[in-house]
Amino acid sequence: DRINYAEITISAVSPSQYPEDGLTEIVLAGRSNVGKSSFINTMVNRKKLARTSGQPGKTRTLNFFNIEKELFFVDVPGYGYAKVSNAEQEKWGRMMTEYFATREELALGILLVDFRHEPSDLDVQMYDLYKYYNIPVLVIGTKADKIKKSKYNKHEGIIKRTLRFEPEDKFFTFSSFSREGRDEIWEEILSYTRN
Ligand code: GDP
Repeated sequence: DRINYAEITISAVSPSQYPEDGLTEIVLAGRSNVGKSSFINTMVNRKKLARTSGQPGKTRTLNFFNIEKELFFVDVPGYGYAKVSNAEQEKWGRMMTEYFATREELALGILLVDFRHEPSDLDVQMYDLYKYYNIPVLVIGTKADKIKKSKYNKHEGIIKRTLRFEPEDKFFTFSSFSREGRDEIWEEILSYTRN
């Protein structure tokens, strides 16, 4: 539960820059503003390891965070900015597929979706991209503090149905405010580093 070491190793734009440590990698994707930076910071108990910003101008890189020298969180650029050009989107797609297609260290794909809302087409595409590359998927419903416990089943059902969620994948709710889900998600993530 205590994290002593969490540092950004590199912001990579091409495979030649990926780390060579051979550590297990957990990739994190989600639309901008879903709460991805807050998720990373809560998971590692830091205020601002990952920058909470969500600005369209943000550099589009794969950010490798070394956690306890045991694994990497790989933060990919948030998608769904209204103002991103087609050329930018294509570049994003190439960077992602290049990473997914070639990276042996990649063990788990986390998809963050807003627990309050039906997943968007882009969320579905992201889920499908993980599935296409046979990456095990962990879907996380963020900002769960905004939903009453009595409505959890309904929201989880909508998310799973929209994604066409497959039984081998995992789903957790999460809140960076209450820290709900943190321990369970760590347990799940760590199961991919022990084999
Ligand atoms: P990112 O763009 O995906 O990295 O999202 P951020 O982590 O920057 O968060 C986007 C917005 O959502 C900010 O205003 C956060 O305060 C808010 N937010 C993040 N996590 C939570 C949460 O667990 N609960 C609630 N209610 N709001 C959150």
